[in-house]
Amino acid sequence: MTLLEIKHLNKSYMLAGKEKVPVLRDVNVTFESGEFVSILGESGSGKSTLMNIIGGMDSDYEGDVMIQGKTLREMKEIEIDAYRKDKIGFIFQSFNLIPHLSVLENVMIAMQMTDHSEKERTQRAKEILTEIGLKDHMHKRPNQLSGGQKQRVAIARALSNDPEIILADEPTGSLDQETSEQILELLDSIAKKGVLIITVTHSQRVADFGSRIVSVEDGCIKEDLFLKERYTSAKETTQKNGKNLSFAASFKLAINNMTLNTKRNMLVATGGAIGILSVILMLSLGSGVTSYINDQINSSMNPLLVDVVKTSDKGEMKHQEGPPMDEFANEPFTEQDINTISNIANVDSIEKVTTISGKSNVVFNGKNKELSDLETLTDSITADQIEAGTLPNENQVMLTASFAKSLSGDETYKSLVGKPVNLYINEMDGQNQPVTVETQWVVSGIYDQEDKGPIRGAGAYVSYSTLENAYSKLNLVVHPKQINAYAENQDDVVSIKEAVAKAGFQSSPIASIMERITTYVKMASWVLSGIAGISLLVSGIMILVVLNISVVERTREIGILRAIGARKKDIRRIFFSESALLGLLSGVIAVAVAWVISLVLNNILSNTFGVELIQLTPVYMLFGIVVSTLISVVAGVLPSSKAAKLDPMESLRYE
Ligand code: ADP
Ligand code: MG
Repeated sequence: MTLLEIKHLNKSYMLAGKEKVPVLRDVNVTFESGEFVSILGESGSGKSTLMNIIGGMDSDYEGDVMIQGKTLREMKEIEIDAYRKDKIGFIFQSFNLIPHLSVLENVMIAMQMTDHSEKERTQRAKEILTEIGLKDHMHKRPNQLSGGQKQRVAIARALSNDPEIILADEPTGSLDQETSEQILELLDSIAKKGVLIITVTHSQRVADFGSRIVSVEDGCIKEDLFLKERYTSAKETTQKNGKNLSFAASFKLAINNMTLNTKRNMLVATGGAIGILSVILMLSLGSGVTSYINDQINSSMNPLLVDVVKTSDKGEMKHQEGPPMDEFANEPFTEQDINTISNIANVDSIEKVTTISGKSNVVFNGKNKELSDLETLTDSITADQIEAGTLPNENQVMLTASFAKSLSGDETYKSLVGKPVNLYINEMDGQNQPVTVETQWVVSGIYDQEDKGPIRGAGAYVSYSTLENAYSKLNLVVHPKQINAYAENQDDVVSIKEAVAKAGFQSSPIASIMERITTYVKMASWVLSGIAGISLLVSGIMILVVLNISVVERTREIGILRAIGARKKDIRRIFFSESALLGLLSGVIAVAVAWVISLVLNNILSNTFGVELIQLTPVYMLFGIVVSTLISVVAGVLPSSKAAKLDPMESLRYE
């Protein structure tokens, strides 16, 4: 079967989108393996155009190009890519080596797209380079080589995939005579192995070297001259698996590309990192401040608690009578009031609270001490606030540490636990006559009011019912001055407060102020993160611009990769990997810097204020890296597809 057959090939270029200029006119020619064909013609006669069509780089023509009986026109794009990769080896006048890859890597790059192992590829590339006489130059960069050496590398690259056809467009055009001859010898030795060599030249001397000269003039074949017999040794065909550029290989290429412009890429990554960094820090600070405030609220009060008081218009008048305001400004609650409050929706339970101020004395061991506040116990006082002993049960009393100390001395105050004390309360009876409520309660525990707790002075706590019992002996009633309503859950607190206000009572504003502060802090941290997010956008645009520049810079390289069989997909993958890598890099930089900043700031904050306000959690770190990578990947979409869409021929011509 004929290796390559061209039938009625016509091609014209549109000039300025209007005039059709014919470049190839009814070209009919066949080629066999082992031939060394020179296509000879003046500059502009259409030789390169013919080569590009044969090489599957240009599909805009009329007529047929058939490879082993199969028409190129009928092949799908991926089949054409595979054809270029497996059957064709390109050699260009200007070598078209990838400047930032070593000689060895330049040869191996075509093999990246095969399923040979890395080891096999390296071995084969080294073999070819040795055969071609470049054994000692394998690790040099192309610009360290002479022209002849560069063209040898290009030939080695063309050979690396063991092609059946080598297309060489003016392979000796940039070389001196002696070097040209060496290259032609080399091509001849390749033809000897059964490869079809088609070279393009405008030099009769070069053309004379081969086995056949096809003269082209103005797009037509003028003469087809056979100088020698073709080499008939059958070419060994290797079984080829149409594999494509692997992800690992495209990543390697991307990393390689990035190291080329390390400075620029580091700058871009750092720019991107600043955006991510500020977002992470703002979120971390926000959550740190929020949880600090929550801690503060929860340690000083129960978040479910709504404390209700009843004030009246008479409050002010009573205030003028002299006694401390906090006792008399509040009206006592009636049974009906209490019912109203406990019937408010979502109130789980209520507690009656009262404080008896400045009316009590405690006697212990003959010592008589004034008790400034006798408080009833509430749920807000918990066991972890107790220094010694337990919370008071019926007929028990809990003393604050400072009161216990005044009663028993600094060393022995804890030994009061379990001992009975006598407590006297001066009250007025129904007839407004002074009476004394006398009790004897056992000390249940010592309350550490230094740290927490609502009362300031020397105080004691009893349960509400214990107090009621003591009063009832003298037919006196205890009036609750505060009702603690407990919400079923935290979200109900606001509605309970509203209902309380509606019923004509007041509730302490502290909890709601705290609540509002937390909301503000959250809002502030989101607003700040939003502002920081703008710099994310900027870094995304930056990456887009840089990748676009990179596409332009590497247009030629993309053409080379396409010429040796890379699919559009592979090109997209390389740029895609590059943008993902950039994003990953900036994410990692951001997280690392954020981590250092949080360590330093937290250290300073905890030394001066005793709190660590920046909560950099693994979730935020992951968030930073993922978002950064995503942004760059998105920014990379346009440049990547731009690169993939580049026309391989035009890219090669690009200077
Ligand atoms: P050769 O390689 O023989 O010097 P080419 O095949 O490169 O010739 O070009 C043949 C003719 O086609 C020339 O006149 C050239 O100007 C024209 N030509 C080549 N490429 C293009 C193109 N992309 N657009 C328009 N005209 C082109
Ligand atoms: Mg040309």
